[in-house]
Amino acid sequence: MLETTTTSRTGTRIDIRNVSKHYAGATAVEDVDLTIEPGEFLTLLGPSGSGKTTTLNLIAGFTDLSSGHIEIDGERVDNIPSHRRGLGVVFQHYALFPHMNVEDNIAFPLRQRKTPKAEQKRQVAEVLETVGLGGYGQRFPSELSGGQQQRVAFARAMVFEPRALLMDEPLGALDKNLREKLQLEIKRIHQEVGRTFVFVTHDQEEALVLSDRIAIFNNGRVEQVGPSDELYEQPRTLFVATFMGESTVLRGDPQWQGKEWTLGFHGASVRGVAEPFAGPAALVLRPEDIQLAHREEEIPAGRQYCPVTVKQNIYLGSGRKFELELADGTVGIVRGSLAQGAGLEVGDPAFAFWHPERGSLLPDTGTQSAT
Ligand code: ADP
Ligand code: MG
Repeated sequence: MLETTTTSRTGTRIDIRNVSKHYAGATAVEDVDLTIEPGEFLTLLGPSGSGKTTTLNLIAGFTDLSSGHIEIDGERVDNIPSHRRGLGVVFQHYALFPHMNVEDNIAFPLRQRKTPKAEQKRQVAEVLETVGLGGYGQRFPSELSGGQQQRVAFARAMVFEPRALLMDEPLGALDKNLREKLQLEIKRIHQEVGRTFVFVTHDQEEALVLSDRIAIFNNGRVEQVGPSDELYEQPRTLFVATFMGESTVLRGDPQWQGKEWTLGFHGASVRGVAEPFAGPAALVLRPEDIQLAHREEEIPAGRQYCPVTVKQNIYLGSGRKFELELADGTVGIVRGSLAQGAGLEVGDPAFAFWHPERGSLLPDTGTQSAT
């Protein structure tokens, strides 16, 4: 006899299918195709103007699509108005009702849904505990700090148990310490309630802290979507590689022999293996991929390397960070242990080397537009 296991997946699935949004003379979102899994924490990450807010507003139903469609739990929502999509929304500016106390602010969506009074009280008290504001119910928004007001906004967005919670840069107006504290709380709340969260930010560290997966937006398109380690270690475009973390980028015209490439680089010839493509290339190396040697003879066999000049040798306590200049003026970044490059001083010539399996060779799409 076969045994069946039932996996209970809480939360809602959102399918964004080939969605575009054009304004007169401007494209905000172009052919975005993205599935948000039930219970997932997905972050839309990208520079300002890359289409994140528009995508969130299309899901919420605040904006009409130009083409494509969106499904929530398998149902097309084209003709469903935003207030009937069952989604909670939090914006950067909390927009609380100033003349209502915290309890009444939070109960607002319940009153709209004609929830019985006693039930309202119970749900409001519960959600106040969840956001860490137990005992604040009688305060007015003007008597709360920015962070506390944003907690009330979270509570109001969650109190009616929405199918999914959408958040557009909700921590953008808060200072760094508070932002980091609330990031951890949002993560805890997500784990606690187990619902689908869609979060917008332009801050890659924030995206790393919070997300199960990240969708990288650039010029209205999704360039890559995946868990953060995949985006960092296997970027598919130069934009993704340079937007996610620090890197050294060596540019040139590669020679291909099957999947093996060689890149002539001022005073060096470096090689590796990749899926071939036509045109100029950029080799992206992470700071932890690169090591330093004083002299060429010290470089272990089988490594790729190029000559550099030390521009900065920065002591970080737990290790060192070097800024290097390559022959063509490219800036390189190396991060390693305190022993790494010991004795190298600013202005010294040195060699940067790396294992040929490290680094990603990607089509060079030119200067990256991060505004
Ligand atoms: P993000 O949230 O990533 O900063 P947005 O989604 O707000 O980006 O905007 C994407 C692009 O669409 C921008 O170039 C913006 O100027 C444009 N855009 C957004 N809303 C409108 C609108 N109502 N009318 C015209 N252009 C718009
Ligand atoms: Mg925005």
